[in-house]
Amino acid sequence: ASLEVSPKPTVLRWDTGATGGGEVMIAAGPCGVESLEQTLTPARYVKKHGAQMLRGGAFKPRTSPYSFQGMGQEGLEILAEARRQTGLPVVTEVVSPEQVDLVATYADVLQIGARNAQNFALLQAAGQSGRAVLLKRGMSMTLEEFLMSAEYVLAQGNMRVILVERGIRTFEKSTRFTLDVSAVPVLKSLTHLPVWIDPSHAAGKRDWVTALALAGLAAGADGLIVETHPEPEKAQSDAAQQLNEAQFADMMSRVKALLPAL
Ligand code: PEP
Ligand code: MN
Repeated sequence: ASLEVSPKPTVLRWDTGATGGGEVMIAAGPCGVESLEQTLTPARYVKKHGAQMLRGGAFKPRTSPYSFQGMGQEGLEILAEARRQTGLPVVTEVVSPEQVDLVATYADVLQIGARNAQNFALLQAAGQSGRAVLLKRGMSMTLEEFLMSAEYVLAQGNMRVILVERGIRTFEKSTRFTLDVSAVPVLKSLTHLPVWIDPSHAAGKRDWVTALALAGLAAGADGLIVETHPEPEKAQSDAAQQLNEAQFADMMSRVKALLPAL
């Protein structure tokens, strides 16, 4: 991952856009896939407002085993249908090495979540999948440990990795996690990989998501992954932090004011 090995920024491209080397991408969509309608509606509006990738979890890594765990394969099929209808590439989470092949048949990008950021068997399996990997920083990981996790993917010969700062554990309880904005310039001084911000899981509350998104982009992030739901208060996971369509549109207009090229 080091700039000493490869001094040029890695640029990842899809039909809808690119990230890295000065190009910025926005991935947006619901935390979890809950139904066809609940996924198609935001897929259409995030595209309309300028996002280039659709997010949505079919396998959800929940803190409680009694919480909604995601729709599984049916959720992957819904994501594939949303891609067919909108043309947006899809990023979705994979939570175990055994599921990598299944998820890779549907997803354009495999997400590895904060809770699995040091699941080395999963990182290796994702590296072998041939799919790009969006790797979230573990909530208690140093940046050095984060880069070592990325190395587990790269070491399989897969250079298509996006690093995502999504907030870390600190003593502060107002937000769900503390967004470590400094991760952006620090990582960019060390690695050629694209660095994104996830303002949603850091904030934990929709009112604060746009400010964190703008802070990340102002610091030089190569992209954002943001949660939005057609009816956030009814969401089966992360209800408090998902933007509704109007809030997502407002965030995008502020993002475009900051980055006119987007
Ligand atoms: C998610 O993206 O819905 C998610 C579970 O994120 P994280 O792994 O960052 O908590
Ligand atoms: Mn979520």
